[in-house]
Amino acid sequence: MSGFEQLGVDELLLPGLRRRGIRAPTAVQAGTLAEAHAGRDVVAVAPTGSGKTLAFLLPIARKLRAEPPARVRGGAVDAMQRLRAVVLAPTRELAQQIGREAESLLGGTVLRVTVAYGKSAISPQIQSIRKGTDVLVATPGRLRELLDADACSLAWLRFLVIDEADRMLDMGFLPQVKAIADRCPTERQTLLYTATLPKAVEELARTLVREPLRFGERSTAARAEPVAFGVEDRGKTHLLLHLLKEPSRTGVLVFVRTRRRAGWVAEALHRNGIRTGSLHGDRSQKQREAALAGVSEGRLRVLVATDVAARGLHVPALRCVVNYDMPLVDQDLVHRLGRAGHGDADFAEAFAFVAPDDQDRWRRLARNCEIDPRLKPLPEDALPAEVRRPSTQPPEARRRATARQQKRERLERVEAFRKRRDEQAAQRGRLRGKQSAKPIASGSRPGKGARKS
Ligand code: ADP
Ligand code: MG
Repeated sequence: MSGFEQLGVDELLLPGLRRRGIRAPTAVQAGTLAEAHAGRDVVAVAPTGSGKTLAFLLPIARKLRAEPPARVRGGAVDAMQRLRAVVLAPTRELAQQIGREAESLLGGTVLRVTVAYGKSAISPQIQSIRKGTDVLVATPGRLRELLDADACSLAWLRFLVIDEADRMLDMGFLPQVKAIADRCPTERQTLLYTATLPKAVEELARTLVREPLRFGERSTAARAEPVAFGVEDRGKTHLLLHLLKEPSRTGVLVFVRTRRRAGWVAEALHRNGIRTGSLHGDRSQKQREAALAGVSEGRLRVLVATDVAARGLHVPALRCVVNYDMPLVDQDLVHRLGRAGHGDADFAEAFAFVAPDDQDRWRRLARNCEIDPRLKPLPEDALPAEVRRPSTQPPEARRRATARQQKRERLERVEAFRKRRDEQAAQRGRLRGKQSAKPIASGSRPGKGARKS
């Protein structure tokens, strides 16, 4: 069985590929085809000649063959409704080249291809589309002309492909591409290919694609792989301060288990002259926004946060995530790691501080996230001598202190859970357009009011 079959390529297309000497997938094809066939958006960075054209034509061919266009009340297919894939290319030559590749791939099928580009007569292109075309390969300018002339409709589009996005940028086509994408149905699959990934293209990708598979250049940097250190709780702040001695570490988000700990850590960083903000449940919306703005604008270097407070937040300036404590909820680790490197930063870093009691859980979480679970040795001189030495507290006192600490944390956890539940309930109430139930006054019991004496 060829690699192409395993990647989900339509069997009917394989003989044609073989005839052209195409037997095994190239890297970009092997890396994206399976997900693209499954319907996922793709952002792929790969050099010229790496086989990007087939990486988008193969999924289009399979899907369009499997799902013929809707018929109007059992009658003939409306020619306009056949147009279900648009491939945008920056130049006439590239459009023609993609068109040729598409024709030779789809030659044995019912699917038809039209190529449209500017500085040439528009009417033959309009005629070809009106006869019914399934795939339109076009330059952005000409496609807009065709749309303005009502020659075609994007209403039935299933695929939008943006090929050579970096050259689109060079030629000043990005606004046109955006305008075209705005006219496509949101329920579409978007595939973007480029040889390089300048900021403006990354920005375009962010607005056009949804949870894409990323291939190439940025695919590994997009999610930071944490460096994990085994460190006792009392050494964590020292280790954090040690990491912050590196002045290039700015935009640091430190995750802690509870808001009490958030307060302690922020306080300790303050004392050491590090501009620090915090983000947790005790802070007002206004305070949180001020803290976020502080990091975005570079006034704050570090933000100490609990998971609940940090959920869903997007701060482009974040470049480093420190898992000071393990998350309370397993899936929060993925959310945390996804935080850094969203913006323009060229790198994203992450660290995990793993206390002795957390080691089993860390290994399990790391494996679930496909992260290397091994603990790295602490940097030389990261901890002061008195912390490096084993604790001098008598065992009984240590046990009691630990028990007190655990009890405190249990209570905070219960409180955090309740708070989150109430917030969710309130949200559901809002979604239904109603106020949530009136809070039960302290001392009252459920059902009490309804019962007669
Ligand atoms: P890109 O768009 O990445 O610059 P193309 O898609 O134009 O590259 O492909 C370059 C050439 O490689 C084309 O002639 C194409 O037919 C050929 N090609 C594509 N995929 C394969 C493959 N899996 N095996 C061999 N040749 C391939
Ligand atoms: Mg190409």
